[in-house]
Amino acid sequence: MTLTITKIAEDLAAGRCSSREIVDDLLARIKAHSALNAFISMDEDAARQGAEDADRMRRAGGGVLAGVPIAHKDIFCTSGVKTTCGSRMLADFVPPYDATVVEKMRAAGCVMVGKTNMDEFAMGSSNETSFFGPVRNPWDPDRVPGGSSGGSAAAVAARLVPGATGTDTGGSIRQPAAFCGITGLKPSYGRVSRYGLVAFASSLDQAGPLAQSAADCAHLLSAMAGFDARDATSLDVPVPDYAASLGKDLKGLRIGIVKEHFAQGVEPAILEVLREALREYERQGAVLVDVSLPNSAHAVPCYYVLAPAEASSNLARYDGVRYGFRAAEYKDLEDMYKKTRSEGFGPEVKRRIMIGTYALSAGYYDAYYVKALKLRRLIADDFARAFERCDVLAGPASPSTAFALGAKNTDPVSMYLNDIFTIPVNLAGLPALSMPAGFVGGLPVGMQLIGRYLDEAHLLNVAHRFQEATDWHARVPAGI
Ligand code: GLN
Repeated sequence: MTLTITKIAEDLAAGRCSSREIVDDLLARIKAHSALNAFISMDEDAARQGAEDADRMRRAGGGVLAGVPIAHKDIFCTSGVKTTCGSRMLADFVPPYDATVVEKMRAAGCVMVGKTNMDEFAMGSSNETSFFGPVRNPWDPDRVPGGSSGGSAAAVAARLVPGATGTDTGGSIRQPAAFCGITGLKPSYGRVSRYGLVAFASSLDQAGPLAQSAADCAHLLSAMAGFDARDATSLDVPVPDYAASLGKDLKGLRIGIVKEHFAQGVEPAILEVLREALREYERQGAVLVDVSLPNSAHAVPCYYVLAPAEASSNLARYDGVRYGFRAAEYKDLEDMYKKTRSEGFGPEVKRRIMIGTYALSAGYYDAYYVKALKLRRLIADDFARAFERCDVLAGPASPSTAFALGAKNTDPVSMYLNDIFTIPVNLAGLPALSMPAGFVGGLPVGMQLIGRYLDEAHLLNVAHRFQEATDWHARVPAGI
């Protein structure tokens, strides 16, 4: 079954099926593919009830998403439904409120079928740091789905849901989208509210959609985006109708080819796939322009100072007092803090807290944190200069295809380098997506498209035109 959001919306509108029927079907599929471990929690009764409510909403004239089933990454607070963030620390946490994204998508008629698996506190590129075990890639169950939104990406790739939410701090929507052969968009910083999102690195975190196609992502983004007074970094600017802006031709579009992204370190076969994809754009009238992002080599080290620094501060709240896990036995308050945090956090999260605390400590603040802030500015300036000469940037989403489970667990730096092409975009706050561009050795290859600030509509159109001419995004893993 390869139902897209667009198709489901048509079928529902024409009365060919009900949301309740689709949800029943998907719940059965999710059970049949439970070995993927894509979901952390399910509430079948609530999903069925939600579908019936949405069917009523549609009969009363609801919008395009009314009755469309989706899943939320388990980082979004859901009122009355467990929200674990992939951690033992929050394994039993039931939020008393909904994240803005959850609220808005429900108001649009989306039906939540479950909460998806993820790296612990969204720290990871393979979904192996989850307290609830790794997710498997539907294209090859011995490989990782990417991370940290690996459960969402695997669920969409295995057609367990037509769309899902994710978050992207350094690549966590785009890299799993690339590894799983789907389309995933990280919006501009400030476009989507972070209220009710468990915080990792607040100056970088941004929520966005994962789906089969750019057209489907457009529908989801329209529902997710918009000003929210409860998030101080949310932008008070109008949200375009993203689906309505699809279909414009690409004649004269200037696509920037980043020299540093077509270089050593990327699997040559991936670059070949991307060059072929770019030829499709040339056929549609786009022109390729060479550009350079000279400071991009500093993006990963810069990120691994700033993100852990912010995380160490954000994660200070998990102290066994306020909410979440508390160690069972302890001598005194100090001992309770220590045991709670030692037992509640996994090794990657502890590593980040220690790096971040070190980088922020009085003696090292200028040498690391302030230095990284300066680099962040240079990296953002590089993008501004590149966009004087082109309209979008294109390149690989990741230097490799999905790697084997366990392959990079013992080498954090090689794990971190997975996000070498996605991290600079978060540092600059720009929108970017990954879409399927071909295959290498039977595994999907993702092409990253980066846009100007708040230019999501344009970016989605550029991806959509490619998907109208190709069928990489419609391919389904064997056995699905
Ligand atoms: N893989 C990167 C990290 O581990 C990015 C994660 C993310 O975007 N949430 O920090």
